[in-house]
Amino acid sequence: MIDVYDPVYIVTILFFVLALERMSSPKTARSGIIYAGAAMLAATVATFFIPGLGNLWLIVFAAGVGGLVGWYAAKKVAMTDMPQMVAIYNGMGGGAAGAIAAVELLGGVGLTYGSLSVAGAVIGSVSFSGSVIAFLKLQGWMRQRPITFPGQQPLNLGILGAAIVAGALSLVFSLSWILAVFFLLALGFGLMLTLPIGGADMPVVISLFNALTGIAVAMDGFALSNYAMIVAGILVGAAGSMLTVLMARAMNRSIGNVLFGAFGAVEETGTSIQGSMKPIEADDVAVMLAYASKVIITPGYGMAVAQAQHKVKELADLLEQKGVTVKFGIHPVAGRMPGHMNVLLAEAGISYDKLYDRDEINPEFATADVVLVIGANDVVNPAARRAGSPLQGMPILDVDQAKNVIVLKRGQGKGFAGVENDLFYKDNTRMLYGDAQETVAKLVQAVKKV
Ligand code: NDP
Repeated sequence: MIDVYDPVYIVTILFFVLALERMSSPKTARSGIIYAGAAMLAATVATFFIPGLGNLWLIVFAAGVGGLVGWYAAKKVAMTDMPQMVAIYNGMGGGAAGAIAAVELLGGVGLTYGSLSVAGAVIGSVSFSGSVIAFLKLQGWMRQRPITFPGQQPLNLGILGAAIVAGALSLVFSLSWILAVFFLLALGFGLMLTLPIGGADMPVVISLFNALTGIAVAMDGFALSNYAMIVAGILVGAAGSMLTVLMARAMNRSIGNVLFGAFGAVEETGTSIQGSMKPIEADDVAVMLAYASKVIITPGYGMAVAQAQHKVKELADLLEQKGVTVKFGIHPVAGRMPGHMNVLLAEAGISYDKLYDRDEINPEFATADVVLVIGANDVVNPAARRAGSPLQGMPILDVDQAKNVIVLKRGQGKGFAGVENDLFYKDNTRMLYGDAQETVAKLVQAVKKV
């Protein structure tokens, strides 16, 4: 007999796939989120119709409280704090997957489903504790730099091995104290795995933990014979894995290097930078911009902090009215999460056909009269081309090839990787100091007067 929830689950799965497809373009991404949210709501409601569900009101109460907290937090969160919010929500998912596995193991499931529960428990717990560390680092409540010590990797391997042994024992004996030891070890492993990873790599790690949460949910789905969980988990696992690989590739790093390379642990030494940063006034920049034939704007994290995107759109429109060609060069890891810049610029109404990715825009910098670097630092740092730099090998936007480079930032602060930027000292670079939103507003006024 077909249960009520069966057809709902099938439709839900179709909507999850459709949602993912829609998220592949900024134009349709918003509707993709709505599809996925609606499908998740439908799947949750349908689950209440599974026969034999106990503690109904407790579940409704918990889901209500969780839903309210999530809704309120998502409404309040600043765009710049989004990565840590994703981290903590994802960690909750991992924790829930681990908790489901614990209930299964305590119930004494058979060997096949039990093994899946053990695997789900390890992966979910690692994702939970690792995501908590990622949240603390990104929120600035914990040292951002990698925490390393001698013998760290063998110790971590030992903890993982002990967790797997404890998991196997809990499968055989179904004793709550063995299960507790097992979970403590698995949680400890997630913690220890994340401590040596620096703040700059956290978004990649969050994406990886996101994939792990998906896999843990899929394994729980097998143990519970719930195919909505299996498909949703596999989708999250696959999409999260692909995103992790793409992000690592954009920084020219391997996943192994992100996880075990302790990037950012060593302070940069012996840079060959000479000269000084040369300031410029907004009025002078306005003249350069107004008489240019081609201007390229490269935004970064600072534009997000300053929420300068609307002013940037005003400036771009103004320049175009004066006959200037304006293009945007977007680095894949500019900002703090994938697509960060695209989302902000789209929000301000800048059309997608003006946004160029790194490979498309790099050959154009040499023909640009002016490049406006708005709150970007690491992604335009030519130190990436220098052997020995911590950024070595990271593909960058070649803004230094332009005739004139104007860098908008508040002061002489370094970028996220903590590396001194060669670009700021070049002969063709001028620094326009101040909060990006205020500075761009000044530029708009000054260009109007030219
Ligand atoms: P960076 O973090 O390197 O630099 C941002 C710059 O913005 C700072 O130098 C800061 O200088 C300036 N700034 C901050 N606030 C303001 C403000 N209100 N007005 C004007 N300027 C401001 O940013 P990028 O975008 O260049 O690089 C992103 C970094 O994040 C890279 O290292 C990347 O690898 C990393 N990362 C990104 C991921 C992603 O998915 N996007 C994933 C993983 C890592 P000052 O303090 O002087 O103002």
